[in-house]
Amino acid sequence: MRRLRTVIHAHTNYSPDSNRSPLELVETALGQGVDCVAITDHDEIEGALAARADGRVRVIVGQEVSTADGHLLGLFLEELVPPGRPAVETAKRIHARGGLVLAPHPFSTLCDDSLGSAIVGLLPHLDAVEVSNARNPLPWQDARAARFARRHGLPGYVGADAHLRGTLAACYQLMPDFQDAASFRTALLQAELFPGRLGVAYLATMVCQSLCSSLLGRPLPGFGGNAATRPALAPARQPAGA
Ligand SMILES: [Zn+2]
Ligand SMILES: [Zn+2]
Repeated sequence: MRRLRTVIHAHTNYSPDSNRSPLELVETALGQGVDCVAITDHDEIEGALAARADGRVRVIVGQEVSTADGHLLGLFLEELVPPGRPAVETAKRIHARGGLVLAPHPFSTLCDDSLGSAIVGLLPHLDAVEVSNARNPLPWQDARAARFARRHGLPGYVGADAHLRGTLAACYQLMPDFQDAASFRTALLQAELFPGRLGVAYLATMVCQSLCSSLLGRPLPGFGGNAATRPALAPARQPAGA
């Protein structure tokens, strides 16, 4: 049975901290042999919709939602999920729309938008946990997420969290084919995970981008080219960029 090389958690320049367009992401996916990519921009789905419309790579439309308690991923969305609401309310809203709820980088201390202990209250609503985040260089935080997922019987996945042009399949899962959200979740239980890291140059660029944009109060030139089109959706809690 053919298994899909699937990247989960990728950003386009509909996120303020990404410098690649949706079509550039598609080109990178084709170049890196990726069959399917879940695009999860910060509080935005237009980039994912544009990549899906291109049609050359299978795209799961998702969103990295900035909840009041930290970041959540919603997958299989067709509408934007409002940011700034409590995590449990956000998760219920994603499920009500037929989507899946994933916990990205839940215990990363390098990202001040991680769920941390708030993940416990989300347990009845979680579909999967990010047990490795390719931009987090601290492996014990991934190990903690993996233990959490195992203890609670939740599927794990590896999250690329790739923002920069040319980066995508730093980590991926090989998973059985799926048709919809429910079969994706089942396929994830049978997935083989291939963790990886995005590397020092990637991290240095993202740290520089984050520091400079904090000082400037806007994204660096070349970043977030499509992100400023929705100023009304600025979340109550600003994403730190993970
Ligand atoms: Zn994040
Ligand atoms: Zn992210």
